[in-house]
This record gives sequence, C-alpha cells and structure tokens, in this order.
Amino acid sequence: MKPTNIEHIGIAVRSLEESIRLYEAILGLKCQKIEEVSDQKVRTAFFKIGTTKIELLESTDPEGPISRFIEKRGEGLHHIAFKVNSLKDKLSATKNAGIRLIDEEPRPGADGLNIAFLHPASASGVLIEFCENRENR
Ligand code: ZN
Repeated sequence: MKPTNIEHIGIAVRSLEESIRLYEAILGLKCQKIEEVSDQKVRTAFFKIGTTKIELLESTDPEGPISRFIEKRGEGLHHIAFKVNSLKDKLSATKNAGIRLIDEEPRPGADGLNIAFLHPASASGVLIEFCENRENR
C-alpha cells in the first residue's frame, strides 16, 4: 500500500510563537492554525505548501516526547508524515514486513488526522508517521 503524499514534516521547536514568526518570514506564508494535541503533549502550528504542511511542535510538558527530543538533540527536524488511505491496513502491512512500530493502533493527531509512528531504529534513524483523515474511520 503506497502513501499518497507527504502530509507534513514535523519540526521540534522551543517556542511556538518565535518559530511561527521565523517560518512566516522564511516561507512568506501566514501560519494557518495553532492546535493543542493533549495526547501528544504538544502545541502545533501549521503552514500549508501544496499538499504538504510544515508542522511546528512545541512541548506542553517537560516530560513529553518533544521536550525529551530537544533536550537530547536540540531543535530541528523531528518526523516525516506520509498520508495513507487506510492507516490500520498500512500498520499491519508494515509490521508484517518486519518493521518496528511505536503505535500498534492509530491515535488522534492534529488537524483531523489519525496517526501512528514507526520506530526510528527500523527506518534509518528517521521518525516516520503514517496518517489518515479521521473521517475515514
Ligand atoms: Zn506529525
């Protein structure tokens, strides 16, 4: 099952407000929306470029995954998200191919998506997310 597009690229940031200003200047685009995802302990901000978004991620919890990422590696590229038509099917196909999953089941993400992460150790050090529109399910 092939992904349909790169849905978004996630970037871990210390200050959402500061990075929104930077990315507005870099891209010449206005931030589309800010959304908190309590499940992932993040506040997110989106910029839309074609069928792809830039997703800035700021932690809302010092113990959250984005805080721990920034502590270890500093701000920067965090994950790449590929859109698929059926997340459940994609997860089982990926697992059957011997790839380690972080999320065995889809969970709610930002911007109307269900999401699931693969383990970076199974993807050349890159954190990969698969996502689908929530109304698919
Ligand atoms: Zn994401």
